[in-house]
Amino acid sequence: MSLRDCIERLEKAGDLVRIRREVDRRFELAAVAKKLDGGPAVIFENVRGASMPVILGTDGTKERVAQNLGVKPAQLSDCLSRGIGEPVPWKKVTDGPVRARRVQAPFEIDALLPVPHHYEKEPAPFITGGIVVARDPDSGVLNASYNRMQLKGGTRCGMYMLLRHLHQIYEKNLARGRPTEVAVVLGMDTAVRLAAAPGGANIPLELDEFAIAGGLRGRPLEMVNCETVDLLVPADAEIVLEGRLLPGVMEDEGPMAEFTGVYGNDAPKHVFEASGIMMRESPLYQDVLPFAAEHLLMLGLPYEGVLYRYVRAMVPGLHDVHITPGGCGKFVAVLSLTKRDDGDAKNAILGAFGAIRDIKIVIVVDPDIDIGNPREVEFALATRVQGDRDIILIPGAKGNDLDPIRDVYGYITKIGIDAT
Ligand code: MN
Repeated sequence: MSLRDCIERLEKAGDLVRIRREVDRRFELAAVAKKLDGGPAVIFENVRGASMPVILGTDGTKERVAQNLGVKPAQLSDCLSRGIGEPVPWKKVTDGPVRARRVQAPFEIDALLPVPHHYEKEPAPFITGGIVVARDPDSGVLNASYNRMQLKGGTRCGMYMLLRHLHQIYEKNLARGRPTEVAVVLGMDTAVRLAAAPGGANIPLELDEFAIAGGLRGRPLEMVNCETVDLLVPADAEIVLEGRLLPGVMEDEGPMAEFTGVYGNDAPKHVFEASGIMMRESPLYQDVLPFAAEHLLMLGLPYEGVLYRYVRAMVPGLHDVHITPGGCGKFVAVLSLTKRDDGDAKNAILGAFGAIRDIKIVIVVDPDIDIGNPREVEFALATRVQGDRDIILIPGAKGNDLDPIRDVYGYITKIGIDAT
């Protein structure tokens, strides 16, 4: 289901509100979106000084995500796991809605796109919902990832890359003395958004995220050429910002309020320079409000699919997995397991840590516990855990770079709890 189809369905179901009053994109838009967090999706139709509306929350609840993918909420882990296991390659088409309007640099990104300034201590507006597309120079495979981008005036943005696929591509190009061409895709449906989100999972660079999205959609994505860079992007995107990551250039960036609910990581980052922009007629700017329900779901749901796939391959008694919103959508995994052997819970813990770098705490429970209910999980912790033999500590491990409790060397201690 495309973003436009999704909006139509949400509107009919009364699950979308339109805000017609003028709002300021400096703080006010984010404040209103925060008030509506966990509720309906929202379109801000009248953003001061902007030529297009801003949309948030189309994937703001688990039920909505499941509906957008055409499955029941209970089938989500299985569905996401299938997207990874049975990817459907995309196909190239010559034209598509996103190519309707095309502008070449120079321009002011800030004048063309209504990028909200979300939180008070952020130095500038950040593009938070941009799916960054790049091509691996060795294999030619496309990569898609979420990367925060700080507006710096004109065509320039800061770009924050964790040490993952986009960074690997950047380093390969840097070694050849070349910039990295990127296309920032804004305004996508649930399948593409979830496919681009599992940063920190052991999905190989060679697995194209748009093929994962095809697996989730159940049919190939249609992709079109960009205008100023040699890349392909989904034909039904709302907006595509094209440009280059400048080789070896680092500038101050941040802080930004991150998924942990604290301002994170103000340090020099890489620099993006835009060369062009493509957009639909009457485009929508899709924003992600950091540390809101939609953000945490977009982080956690792909991890559930990854865990379901990889841990189940090792421990077949695994029924279901849950990445908790209280764990910032990244740090805490609860696994439901029917043990066939007493060691299964410990093996499941090791499997989960092996599958996803960012997971810090794994709790394994018996199938009588509802893993979506924190009270039941606490009951298992309270009545089924002996601290000296059921808890595993793995100090000195690599976690997420935005974890506020990482030590000065960036390490964290992983915690596995057998609450069966
Ligand atoms: Mn990738």
